[in-house]
Amino acid sequence: MSELLSIDDISVSYGNIKALQNVSMHVNQGDIVCLIGANGSGKSTLLKAIVGQEPLVNGSITFDGEEICKTRNTLEGKGKKRNKLMTTDVIVSRGIALVPEGRRVFADMTVEENLDMGAFLVRDDKLIAERKESMYDFFPILGARRRQKTRSLSGGEQQMMAIARALMSAPRMILLDEPGLGLAPLVIADIFGKIDLINKQDNVTVFLVEQNARMALKASTEGYVMENGKIVLNDKSSALLANEKVRAAYLGE
Ligand code: ATP
Repeated sequence: MSELLSIDDISVSYGNIKALQNVSMHVNQGDIVCLIGANGSGKSTLLKAIVGQEPLVNGSITFDGEEICKTRNTLEGKGKKRNKLMTTDVIVSRGIALVPEGRRVFADMTVEENLDMGAFLVRDDKLIAERKESMYDFFPILGARRRQKTRSLSGGEQQMMAIARALMSAPRMILLDEPGLGLAPLVIADIFGKIDLINKQDNVTVFLVEQNARMALKASTEGYVMENGKIVLNDKSSALLANEKVRAAYLGE
């Protein structure tokens, strides 16, 4: 299987706080890979770095063979020659879409308007309309509520809409930041079922960040464990589910 996303030795700091330290991770085309870790371990920072929202102190990120994130040093280079950091919209155009933590929906917009926002790079209205219809087929509840303001949707419905919005750019890879956060177990199971279908039917590679380690490891083929900004374990998800340290620290056993 070919490698789609390669994160090589990256570090990110917020002032004195070293949020990520020499992190390396690899995601193959077609896989579901998860990253688990406690609150504040650096998971969201990693996703922000991938989509160009946090500059790297060192290291590089490559998507489909193209370097998408460079270090500040590279950016500022010698002789003040500045390489431009790829902006988020350029990274999205390469085929990565982020479903952010807390969903970040536009609450005063309708479902339909939110989906339109996800297609901001698409110029063809017919294609946008077709993609919206396929989202309504895939998430029928969104079809039924297409003209309702998003604030009137339940948490689970808003999460589905956030996923649908990300899919409107027809990404090759989606990054999901805690899709189960604050939702009831049955709703989480429903959402994880959809994520699996998106991966298997549409061949979208999935990178899943979760505090709910059990759900994430069951849903994925490979997993990484992050502690204090560092990767401390990487293995097949089935092996991590059986790992004594993981069971004690993340599965409450
Ligand atoms: P959570 O599950 O709560 O979202 P996380 O694993 O995603 O946690 P991050 O949000 O990436 O963790 O945070 C990693 C570290 O960086 C934490 O110590 C956090 O307090 C710090 N941090 C995150 N964002 C900022 C910021 N904008 N400014 C300063 N420090 C930050």
